[in-house]
Amino acid sequence: MSVRCIYCHHMCELEPGKTGYCGTRMLRNGQSVSLNYGEITSLALDPIEKKPLALFHSGSYILSLGSWGCNMRCPWCQNESISRDRVRSVSVTPEEIVQRALELRPQGNIGIAYTYNEPLISYEFIQDTAAAAHEAGLKNVLVTNGMGTPELLSELLEHIDALNIDLKTIVPEQYERIGGDLDTVLENIEEASYCAHVEVTTLVVPGFNDNPDEMAKLARTLAEIDPEIPLHVTRFFPAAEMRTTPPTPVQTVYRLADIARKYLRYVFVGNC
Ligand code: SF4
Repeated sequence: MSVRCIYCHHMCELEPGKTGYCGTRMLRNGQSVSLNYGEITSLALDPIEKKPLALFHSGSYILSLGSWGCNMRCPWCQNESISRDRVRSVSVTPEEIVQRALELRPQGNIGIAYTYNEPLISYEFIQDTAAAAHEAGLKNVLVTNGMGTPELLSELLEHIDALNIDLKTIVPEQYERIGGDLDTVLENIEEASYCAHVEVTTLVVPGFNDNPDEMAKLARTLAEIDPEIPLHVTRFFPAAEMRTTPPTPVQTVYRLADIARKYLRYVFVGNC
């Protein structure tokens, strides 16, 4: 018998023995379970600005971890090596991660960031780790494509202090092309902004979302949620299926950021 997975907008019908679209969740004992619980592929102490978060504990550091798998298929993926396939990983428990984060406090560490690949497909591990981190007095940061089911994200937000959420395009059909859903991400940005610090990132990809009218609409839409939400307009570099596409011209990034500034109070450029 198959079971519907409710962890993201894809709502995959999970068949016995098969994984869903993300490649990380599977049917076991009648439930959708994550195959990458505690499976870490990257662990680093990063500056908080690298998440990117510009207006949350500036100058601090955060222990950043990632696993493998993703529920979108962006042809420009900047983390292709861990987002497409199951790769070699190290098993850790939430308690071990919290302990490591506490040990790094003297180096300026404020907590734990769930990042690199899409964290919301590893919902249970983040829930367990974030709860333990809060108990230990640490901060939790989620860096996500925003495609998690709004109801489940709401529950997780109890333990999340800050988020950076991708807003990849303002055109619904373009979102669908890359396996996403515009309404879901907008709903999640709004919901998260009520109870946590939220910043948004738009990676400017040549030929996909570098149209000035689209940037104006994107910034206007974000401003309707809250004009104080910081927006990071960042530069694409060749990767994944777009390895032969030249990087976004710096001038394009600056021009689009200027357009966004007409609607939003805080706009930052990145990778320039
Ligand atoms: S989390 Fe994975 S299995 Fe579940 S609905 Fe999303 S893509 Fe499908």
